[in-house]
Amino acid sequence: MNNRELFFKNLAQTSPFPLAFEITKAEGCYMYGPNGEKYLDLISGIAVSNIGHRHPHVISKIKEQLDKYMHLMVYGEIVQAPQVQLAKKLGELLPWKDKTQTYLVNSGSEAIEGAIKLAKRYTGKTKLISCKNAYHGSTHGALSLMGNELFKESFRPLLPGITHIQYGNTNDLSWIDKNTAAIVIEPIQGEAGVKIASKNYFNELMNKCKQTGTLIIADEIQSGFGRTGNWFAFEKVGLIPDIVVMAKGMGGGLPIGAFASDVDVMNCLTNNPILGHITTFGGHPVCSVAALASIEVIANEKLLINVIERSAQFKKNLIHPAIKEIRGEGLMLAVELDCFENVQKVIEYCLGKGLFTDWFLFCDNSIRVAPPLIISEEETDFAINTLLEVLNKVYSL
Ligand code: PMP
Repeated sequence: MNNRELFFKNLAQTSPFPLAFEITKAEGCYMYGPNGEKYLDLISGIAVSNIGHRHPHVISKIKEQLDKYMHLMVYGEIVQAPQVQLAKKLGELLPWKDKTQTYLVNSGSEAIEGAIKLAKRYTGKTKLISCKNAYHGSTHGALSLMGNELFKESFRPLLPGITHIQYGNTNDLSWIDKNTAAIVIEPIQGEAGVKIASKNYFNELMNKCKQTGTLIIADEIQSGFGRTGNWFAFEKVGLIPDIVVMAKGMGGGLPIGAFASDVDVMNCLTNNPILGHITTFGGHPVCSVAALASIEVIANEKLLINVIERSAQFKKNLIHPAIKEIRGEGLMLAVELDCFENVQKVIEYCLGKGLFTDWFLFCDNSIRVAPPLIISEEETDFAINTLLEVLNKVYSL
C-alpha cells in the first residue's frame, strides 16, 4: 500500500474529503510533493510556520538541544534553561514585562484550558463569556467556549455557565456581570473569517471588566507572533488583557503553547490545591529552544516590517470583480467571494498551479491568505497573479 492508501486505512479520518495530497519536504515558503510538485504555502499550517518551514536558526538550536537533553521531568520541578530563557523573553513582549509569569503547555487547546482554570481560581467565580463564531480549541473546556452549535451539539454535556456574545457588539457587554470569572476573546477573530472589532469596543470591554472584576483572556493562538504586524494582536486593537494564550506560531514548527499573566494572578496555581495545573510534556526543552529561536528570527529578520509591506501589496494588487472584500491585518487576511462552491474551485485550481490555500471553519465564502511572514515581494506577486488567474477561470472572465 502506498502512503496515501495507508493514510485512509490507518489514520483517524476527521473529514469525508481531506486534501490527501502527500508532502515529502518543506522549506521556507514552499512545500514539495513526491514527484517534484512545488506549492507556495499561503496558510502556514494554519498560522504555524510564521518564520517559514525549517528555518536554519531554529534547526540549529533544536540540534544543539538534542545533544544535551530531551524530556527530564514533568513541568515545573527542574530548572531547564530552554524553558527559563523562553519565559524571560516572553516577558519582554507581554504587558506585565518583568512581572510576567508563563505556564508552558503543548498546544492551543491546552493553553485555553489552563487559562480558564486560572481565571476561575483567581477570581473565585465560575461564569465564563466567549464570542459567537469563536474558535478556542477542541478539548471539552475549549469546545464549550466555541461559538458555533454545529460542532458542539453532539458532545454535550459541556461546561456549564458559559454565555456567547456577539463579538464587537458593545450592547452585548451587559452579559458580563459580577459573577463572570473571565471573557475569552480573540483580539482578531480567526476562524470567523478574520473579523476585527473597533478599538472603542475593546475600551468598553476593559471598562466593563474592571467594574465587574472579570479577567480578560486574549486568545492569541492564531494572531500572535507577528502574524498581524505586531507581536500580538491585542496591541493592534488597544486591548490590555489579564491573561494571554499562545500556541501555533510560537514554536517555529514544533508543538508548544502557553498561557501567561502577571505573577500576582499566576501565583494562585501554587496553593489550595498545590499543583493547580499539571502537564508532563509542557514546555518540552526541544520545543522551548525552537520557540525562543523563532522569536529571535522574527526580531532579527525584522519580519514585522515585512508583514506590513506584504499585507499592503496583497491589499493593493489583489483586485478582482469576484472579490467582495479583503479583510484583516498583516498576513492574517480573508478574501471574500460569493459562495463556498466557488471558494472550493479556487482552492482546487490554485493547487494545480502550485499555490496552497484554504477556507475558514466558520466562514466558507472566504479564502485564507496567511503565508509565512518571510514571504518575499516576488513570492507575493506569484500568489496574487495566480489567484487572479484562477478567479478569471472560476468566474469565466
Ligand atoms: N484558538 C484559536 C484562535 C485557534 O485558531 C486555534 C487553532 N485553530 C486554537 C485556539 C486551538 O489550538 P490547537 O489546535 O493547538 O489546540
